Amino acid sequence: MNNNFKRETLCVQAGWQPKNGEPRVLPIYQSTTFKYETSEEMAKLFDLEKDGYFYTRLQNPTNDAVAAKIAALEGGNSAILTSSGQAANFFAVFNICEAGDHIVSATSIYGGTYNLLSVTLKKLGIDCTFIDQDASEEEIERAFRPNTKLLFGETLSNPGVMVLDIEKFARIAHRQGVPLIVDNTFATPINCRPFEWGADIVTHSTTKYMDGHATCVGGCVVDSGHFDWEAHADKYPGLCQPDASYHGLTYTKTFGDKAYITKITSQLMRDLGAIQSPENAFLLNLGLETLHLRMPRHCQNALAVAKWLEACDRVAWVNYPDLEGNKYHDLAKKYLPNGSCGVLSFGLKGGREVAIRFMDHLKLAAIVTHVADARTCVLHPASHTHRQLSDEQLREAGIAPDLIRFSTGIENVEDIIADIDQALKA
Ligand SMILES: *Cc1c(COP(=O)(O)O)cnc(C)c1O
Repeated sequence: MNNNFKRETLCVQAGWQPKNGEPRVLPIYQSTTFKYETSEEMAKLFDLEKDGYFYTRLQNPTNDAVAAKIAALEGGNSAILTSSGQAANFFAVFNICEAGDHIVSATSIYGGTYNLLSVTLKKLGIDCTFIDQDASEEEIERAFRPNTKLLFGETLSNPGVMVLDIEKFARIAHRQGVPLIVDNTFATPINCRPFEWGADIVTHSTTKYMDGHATCVGGCVVDSGHFDWEAHADKYPGLCQPDASYHGLTYTKTFGDKAYITKITSQLMRDLGAIQSPENAFLLNLGLETLHLRMPRHCQNALAVAKWLEACDRVAWVNYPDLEGNKYHDLAKKYLPNGSCGVLSFGLKGGREVAIRFMDHLKLAAIVTHVADARTCVLHPASHTHRQLSDEQLREAGIAPDLIRFSTGIENVEDIIADIDQALKA
């Protein structure tokens, strides 16, 4: 497969490459195990001396084909599917951190990731300092410590749709000798490829646009293969020193620029087991086949909705980076020239109470704990996804109490706007 094909071609063709007489369409390898002729062959797989499948908790051919498609789309060299976006971000971080380590993250990130980094990782002995992604390089660098292992941010923050200055973040990370991990869920590789701007590792909640039809929870970690772990060997002993659980094998020495993903597969998946089911991977692959058709429509519809809301006198404010005059418009033009995503946020005059009444009157747009799929949906983060956060934490995460998160689907935009209009009047 030629990974230099354009993104549209990769969406359809990358990943599964059938050999002579094999199924044209990616098969679902619905099997926990794989058979071998000799005990010797199986032993080599367990020692990571040979590449091959033996147990689906670690690797499955259906999953691997879909991961390869996502790696091709992102321009990465290897990838692994996980059971959810949460698992993807957890593995991406935990693969290079352990108790006593520290990470730096943008504050404006998905609520679940914020909890993971601020509460759950702390219980494992990993501290996180949150920084304002729009702060100066000097200010952000002040958050770094000798034990800092990575910098984290989202291309487009959920739900604030703030645009990350990826080049700035990459400069900071690399000056500090750590990789930049970017959650690229909302942009998808159709609209932005963070590796082209210096990011080292990309994560996804494939639950969103990649699946696109709200059928499967899933995630993915993609490695660019660019970060030189060996140049910072003392910082990353898990990759650069012998692994006692594999007879003293050293990932960077044995697997070179595939060390990072191989370690997730053979260590984290083996021990923590957050795999994606092959059947879900199959459905994810169907979603990916049309990602390049759906993303432009999501963006086109969202921009039309945002412009309509901006002109509506019941609306207090609208936040969508593709709008002229938006705080992030210049960054959006640079990193997301073909459009950002289908998600926008806005507030209504009258605040929180009016927001809740408005949402209850929507007919086409459903209230669901989800974003970024074919169907238009809405959510009130302060009452739903982010309800664990205090008002102060909400403000820090860039979420106003009256913020309505509107995920524009791929229906006819006139119907979407008519629904908003009737709910506002009601
Ligand atoms: C939804 C989401 C996640 C979490 O993904 P799940 O698949 O729900 O576990 C992580 N990051 C971002 C940006 C998200 O939108």
